[in-house]
Amino acid sequence: MAKEIVFASNNPHKLAEIRRLAGDGFRILSLAEIGCHDDIPETADTLEGNSLIKARWIKDRYGMDCFADDTGLQVEALGGAPGVMSARYAGPECSPEDNMTKLLAEMEGVTDRRAAFRTVITLILGDEVKQFSGEVFGTIATRRDGTAGFGYDPVFIADETGRSFASMSADEKNAISHRGRATRKLLEYLASV
Ligand code: IMP
Repeated sequence: MAKEIVFASNNPHKLAEIRRLAGDGFRILSLAEIGCHDDIPETADTLEGNSLIKARWIKDRYGMDCFADDTGLQVEALGGAPGVMSARYAGPECSPEDNMTKLLAEMEGVTDRRAAFRTVITLILGDEVKQFSGEVFGTIATRRDGTAGFGYDPVFIADETGRSFASMSADEKNAISHRGRATRKLLEYLASV
């Protein structure tokens, strides 16, 4: 029987992405599937810190092996912003649309458009805590392009393809994305233990 592990997320896009990469080796449970509806605080100022808080929360309260991720879009000309604030860049209740509108406005007239997505995954397996990271480099577009994916995908042009994440298929994106890279490291590790 496949081993069960909790992914501390309810984001359907992320769950689908990770299940596609994981194949049949693991049964990946969402927070809803373990009955967790907690509003887990993300109070750290680093991706490492926030992913650890989320994984620890599940392990301590639900007693299950788990992993949690935290991702930030780091824009060179904005000194690394939005970074850990990526989800709430335009305000506490903002939508991905609001975030992209704010980012495009901040980047208006800016010529250095370099950016990177970075993901950190914290895994807690028994007493062991391990972290895995993945990065993808690109540039911020001057306008939205594409409808696939989520978050900032329409405005992030990956260096490796010259196209926006939102104009790629899920498989194309997974092959080069921050989360795809971090996830493959996680899955390689899980396969080795
Ligand atoms: P999270 O830590 O994975 O929830 O990511 C924080 C925020 O970063 C999300 O709310 C999105 O706005 C953005 N983000 C994370 N991953 C991606 C991605 O693959 N594409 C576009 N935006 C993303």
